[in-house]
Amino acid sequence: MTQTPPSPDRYGLVGHPVEHSRSPLIHTLFARQTGQNLSYELLDVEAAGFETAVRGFGAAGGKGLNVTVPHKETAFALCDECSEAATAAGAVNTISIDEGRLRGDNTDGVGFIRDVTLNQRQALAGRSIIVLGAGGAARGVVGPLLDQGPAELVIANRTKERADRLVADLKRTGDLRAVTFAELAALPAFDVLVNATSAGLQGEAPPFPASLVDDGSFCYDLVYSQHDTPFVTWAKSSGAERAVQGWGMLVEQAAESFAIWRGVRPDTRALIAQLAR
Ligand code: NDP
Repeated sequence: MTQTPPSPDRYGLVGHPVEHSRSPLIHTLFARQTGQNLSYELLDVEAAGFETAVRGFGAAGGKGLNVTVPHKETAFALCDECSEAATAAGAVNTISIDEGRLRGDNTDGVGFIRDVTLNQRQALAGRSIIVLGAGGAARGVVGPLLDQGPAELVIANRTKERADRLVADLKRTGDLRAVTFAELAALPAFDVLVNATSAGLQGEAPPFPASLVDDGSFCYDLVYSQHDTPFVTWAKSSGAERAVQGWGMLVEQAAESFAIWRGVRPDTRALIAQLAR
């Protein structure tokens, strides 16, 4: 008698919009590589429907969800318990569901650090670093960046209060401060520049002075695209030594989520090369 194969464990991405997400492809390839029986779907959900969608997914047997814009901070508030990384960031991008209980993690920071230090081979200790942006993505990366021991870390944001709040929430000492975009012209060039804004995505030039960059600067854009992103174009034309976009972070944060859910960490290198081509 032939046995019916077990149905796959269900995972997904909840956000708005999600239709262009690469996460289903990434998790499907991870599952194939590691021999895990799972499915991964997209849940396009606006802010008002977030809790209902997450609880409904769990009630239907769903095991876990990735969370993207605009729900990461709501997810943090909703989870019954959170990891240290999620608590430090005040944002959740990975939910594990166990009999209705929600556990929140944040893998953006570790995914970012892995891509920069292991894949891009950039040291962060002792370097001068500026993070442009103070939204959900910036919240995920600044704590892990500080853990690397930079010489200084500046957070610049269009809305200064948001950058001030982020610095205050970090509760860290050391050379850490918030500035406005208007103050950027007075700053020297940085060793490492991290773009965590959506600036330029509507077609306008990113509002950063070229003096932030010199021929030793490494520029990392969290945004990713099939072509040069506006920040990468800006960085190259400003004279940066290297400018890369966030495909590696996307794959590495997904691998961390996969490891939390399935207890096995997939190999990321071939997939990063394939996506960033
Ligand atoms: P948020 O909406 O939380 O924050 C957006 C940030 O961009 C804020 O700092 C905002 O400033 C700033 N901003 C928006 N428009 C402009 C503009 N025209 N000029 C200057 N600043 C602007 O988004 P997230 O932080 O979640 O995401 C930011 C980007 O990072 C997204 O493009 C996302 O795709 C990418 N990302 C990539 C990941 C990866 O794995 N590679 C992971 C997570 C995010 P203000 O506070 O003044 O509004």
